[in-house]
Amino acid sequence: MATELGTLLAEIHRLRIFIRDLQAEIERGPRVLKAHQTKLQKQEAGLKLAHDELKKLQVTFKEKELSTKTAYQQLARYETQLNEASEQKQMDALSHQIAHTKQTIATTEEESILLISEIEERQAKIPELDAALKKAQADFITYQAEGKDRLARLQADLKKSTGELTVEEKKLDPLIRPLYDRLVKAFSAECVVPLENSACSFCHTSVTQQFIHDITAGKFTVCPNCGRGLYIK
Ligand SMILES: [Zn+2]
Repeated sequence: MATELGTLLAEIHRLRIFIRDLQAEIERGPRVLKAHQTKLQKQEAGLKLAHDELKKLQVTFKEKELSTKTAYQQLARYETQLNEASEQKQMDALSHQIAHTKQTIATTEEESILLISEIEERQAKIPELDAALKKAQADFITYQAEGKDRLARLQADLKKSTGELTVEEKKLDPLIRPLYDRLVKAFSAECVVPLENSACSFCHTSVTQQFIHDITAGKFTVCPNCGRGLYIK
């Protein structure tokens, strides 16, 4: 059966747990925000990289186009020279140059086709990446605003609960207050814990009937094992 002290300790315990959780939640806020920010920055960097790589491929494609054009011009010159050549040695050399240039053109054109398909593939992905980034940026702004509201709510709750705790603690008998303060210092939110099935609910050590009798009689007792204050709900 709960005593007056038991009811008071149960309320103190509840408030201390609530305050501990509020403080943890308040401390977690900036870390979560930072994680969101890092994720967003990575996404932004990823998109920039995609744009840069695309630009590079486009430059390479233009260069290939130019070198193909130059090779065709060179080929035309060789063919004219071949038509005008009369010496066999010169004709052989020109034929060799023509074959080589044709091979170069074929290779460059093949590479250009591959480049074009890669450029098209990458271009197709950009709008998707752009949209994903815009959404992530909007989500981040919303999260930031909500985070501010949430923090204000948590801080208001913390202030209220801390006030309530002070009121409850003032109800403690001044004779047990020094012991209680030591327990708070040592065990913070779990400075007092309920007795459950004749055992400390924190360390599960069973207590004697005499011990239970003392608690029931309204005595402030601590667990013989872990030293936390015990109460009966
Ligand atoms: Zn214990």
